Amino acid sequence: METQITYTKARTARARLRGACLVMTIPRHWPRAEQDAAIAKFTKWGQKQSSALAALPVAPSAPPLSLEVLSDMVARINAETVQVHYAGVRIGNARYTRLAQVNLKTKILTFSRHAIDGMPERALRYLILHELAHLIHPNHSSAYWAVVCKHMPDYREQRKIAQHHFALAAQRGETPEPPAPEKQAAPAKLPELQPGPKLPPGFEQLSLF
Ligand SMILES: [Zn+2]
Repeated sequence: METQITYTKARTARARLRGACLVMTIPRHWPRAEQDAAIAKFTKWGQKQSSALAALPVAPSAPPLSLEVLSDMVARINAETVQVHYAGVRIGNARYTRLAQVNLKTKILTFSRHAIDGMPERALRYLILHELAHLIHPNHSSAYWAVVCKHMPDYREQRKIAQHHFALAAQRGETPEPPAPEKQAAPAKLPELQPGPKLPPGFEQLSLF
């Protein structure tokens, strides 16, 4: 699987799946053995996630969702759930790395064209709820997830379906954009895997998006 490793000043190691790519952040001050152990553990986790996703049903291809239809959906879901103030909805085209995002300053929600087209309806509902809920909690704290869970108790499953759909769209790929160059980019090749020591405290894995 495609991987991207960034070495940072962060105290904790993190990993997430973005589309079909496993993105890892590794503390650069950690001893090499601990870095390798974290990378090995994340890689195993990423592969497990990928095969779990691959086992999910494939969304049928569907006509492109219009901005009008999407905007109506967002308004309806907002009214039914969190009832936050937001400024508008956009459909983005360029990026494969994010399914959706909300600009907390402008309060505009942007959804990737590749994420929404053909997305099963309930997974799309999750995606919309996910972004709207960030206007209450601008993070992924437990308080944030409590809000999401309150309005969608099966959000974990829907998140997987959304991620799977997005990963497939990314694989089908109409020329995905190359990832933005990052500072401290690690060599493209993964270090050799080896059974490392116990991971330091603070080691964690992030969820899908
Ligand atoms: Zn989020």
